[in-house]
Amino acid sequence: MHTLPDTVVVASGNVGKLREIEAILGDLNIKFIPQSQLGVSEAEETGATFAENALLKATHAVAATGLAAIADDSGLIVDALGGRPGVLSARYAGPSASDAENVDKLLRELEGVEAARRGAAFHCAVCLLTPDGNAPVTASGEWRGRILTERQGDGGFGYDPVFLDIGSGRSAAQMSSAEKNERSHRGKALRKLAARLPRL
Ligand code: IMP
Repeated sequence: MHTLPDTVVVASGNVGKLREIEAILGDLNIKFIPQSQLGVSEAEETGATFAENALLKATHAVAATGLAAIADDSGLIVDALGGRPGVLSARYAGPSASDAENVDKLLRELEGVEAARRGAAFHCAVCLLTPDGNAPVTASGEWRGRILTERQGDGGFGYDPVFLDIGSGRSAAQMSSAEKNERSHRGKALRKLAARLPRL
């Protein structure tokens, strides 16, 4: 990529992600448009890794719109579960599971596991793809923490209420969005991506 696109489609239906992308990449003078506004369907996430899924989503949005697209794929890797739920984080308790059902399943599976063995990390892969055939710009980020035994806080989404940030002693659901962006897997990945983009 030699020049920065002025319009980028966000290949996600998640409003929270759109806000995080706008907050972190806000000074690049790019207009971000959610793919739903352009009638683009959600891509099938058939990849084995976060990076593969991010590229699948971006490729799908570029093909459907002819515009540049940014995509992210993320999830939770739990040490005591051999890395599960991983790329299946959104569908952990079933194909159309709610956040609450996914969290309940995670807490059940970790019942009786002591604090020292409840380590986990959020992972995020991001990808910006242009329609000119150039290679995508990619980056990834990780946020290590621990899975709580019960929910704490009511902000955020997904697994936030049971993800403890060790440094602050608070769950991701107890942080403002600015605090979360500073520490989070998605914040780190997006800042790395921004540093890899051409500047005017
Ligand atoms: P994706 O939309 O395919 O990337 O799926 C990500 C899934 O991982 C979400 O549905 C959440 O369950 C989980 N996840 C990813 N990032 C976060 C986060 O920042 N907080 C809480 N859960 C997250």
